[in-house]
Amino acid sequence: MTKTIYIAGLGLIGGSIALGIKRDHPDYTVLGYNRGADSRRVALERGMVDAVTDDFASFAPRADVIILAVPIQQTLEFLEQLAGLPLKPNVLVTDAGSTKLAIVQKAEQVLAGKAIRFIGSHPMAGSHKSGAQAADVNLFENAYYILTPSALTTEDTILEIKDLLSGLHVRFIEMDTEEHDQVTGQVSHFPHVLATSLMLQAGDHRETHAMTQHLAAGGFRDMTRIAESEPGMWTSILMTNKEAVLERIDDFKSRLDQVTDMIQQDDQEALWQFFHQGGQIRKEMEIHKRGGVDSFYDLSVNIPDEEDEILKIMELLRGTSLMNLRINEENREDIHGILQITFKTQADQIRSKEIIEAATDYQVFID
Ligand code: NAD
Repeated sequence: MTKTIYIAGLGLIGGSIALGIKRDHPDYTVLGYNRGADSRRVALERGMVDAVTDDFASFAPRADVIILAVPIQQTLEFLEQLAGLPLKPNVLVTDAGSTKLAIVQKAEQVLAGKAIRFIGSHPMAGSHKSGAQAADVNLFENAYYILTPSALTTEDTILEIKDLLSGLHVRFIEMDTEEHDQVTGQVSHFPHVLATSLMLQAGDHRETHAMTQHLAAGGFRDMTRIAESEPGMWTSILMTNKEAVLERIDDFKSRLDQVTDMIQQDDQEALWQFFHQGGQIRKEMEIHKRGGVDSFYDLSVNIPDEEDEILKIMELLRGTSLMNLRINEENREDIHGILQITFKTQADQIRSKEIIEAATDYQVFID
């Protein structure tokens, strides 16, 4: 049975979802709302949608499924609008917001008692890019797609969402709404606060210590990459997950106090344990994997810092499918730089190691 899907917000997330729906359900009609004209035009040109509007209310009554992929505050407002529109009976409404409790509570509050189903959604992938131009059918591949059922979720809702979004190739998981916000508060929202604070601290420090600007390298870069995220989105996230983030900030302050004590008391044993335990926990957690799947296989090659070295390695690996390539800059003062190559399969990783070792005398290692 063909369906009409209405996506509000044809940005990075909404556009990528639209492409995924089109991939597995080319017979479905996909309608799009977007405030700005550019993404409306791009979405039409790229075939993500069949028709577009800049008037949110106008397409909603035609839809079997409505996906709100706009900023969180706007999602809350659109839920209120939907409550007053003549929607199809049994319409399925969902969202894409990075926090869930405020959205699910709003939906339960304004949509209750109507023939409307609602489930919260959070696709756990993204990038700093935005707009329909940045949409990518593979954006969510292997990533977790979290579903947070509400009082307005029926048994068939989850099956229907999974079928609709099968083209995204995600890993669906169901989570309690509050638990979602607690966990993302720890692993995503609070780290953004921390990374930005670190960046601001370094910005102040360079005023009096000019070399700060130049010596910030690998470790500092890894710690602060997310400080370049979109300010509007992160403001909304903190505003809709206040309690969990404030609690994490408090907890962190006491951890800093503990390290302060260890240093002041010259407690080397405690400091050793501090670093040791942090390293152990990092090894145990799934952070080396994308969406919890071991889908990336890295190979590191110690190469001389000379012209054409990378080309030489690439030539050896001709025909092997690579996912990523990067040079570890931390080692640039040394004679060797580390070329890091990422493969999709373990077989490619092992075979490539053998090929490079056979043809060169470079050190090749699997991390
Ligand atoms: P985006 O900027 O690429 O797209 C947002 C869309 O919303 C744009 O098309 C914009 O025109 C529209 N919009 C913005 N403000 C609006 C307003 N006031 N009224 C009407 N339309 C408005 O952003 P995105 O990354 O696609 O984010 C969309 C949603 O997805 C957000 O709720 C965000 O929390 C969530 N999300 C983002 C990421 C990520 O990494 N970018 C990851 C997971 C979830």
